[in-house]
Amino acid sequence: MKQTQRRMTADKSIALVAHDNQKPRLLAWAQSHRSTLIQHRLYATGTTGNLLSQQLSVPVNALLSGPMGGDQQLGAKIAEGEIDLLVFFWDPLEQQPHDPDIKALLRIAAVWNIPVACNQASADFLFASSLIDSSYIQDIPDYDAYLNRRVG
Ligand code: PGA
Repeated sequence: MKQTQRRMTADKSIALVAHDNQKPRLLAWAQSHRSTLIQHRLYATGTTGNLLSQQLSVPVNALLSGPMGGDQQLGAKIAEGEIDLLVFFWDPLEQQPHDPDIKALLRIAAVWNIPVACNQASADFLFASSLIDSSYIQDIPDYDAYLNRRVG
């Protein structure tokens, strides 16, 4: 796939999602990174977002709850270039009713080359990066070139 570039600004749109068993871990992690998180625009699936806005005392754009379509909403925002980074504490030990949506969210994040942290350690490493607070030139698929590809 031909690539093009996009500038991620210093202030970012950060999406946060945690499955139920992982919510306490995400809330504790978010508290320890509160000073960084509050400098950015925060998005989350419904339940995660409500808990985070209480925990951090900051506004969070809460979408629908994950099993009700929230993961798909986040995926759409990633595809439209509205989300810069995803922190997704998914549960590797329990079946989720919306497993196809989870897979789709992780897939679209990979397609659009956004940074994804899937657990606390990766989120710690990601937030230790100086790129969190600076702009970044990101390679993304060249959609116009894709539309004009040879088919058939
Ligand atoms: P929730 O959704 O934040 O509404 O719990 C997360 C999920 O399970 O995908």
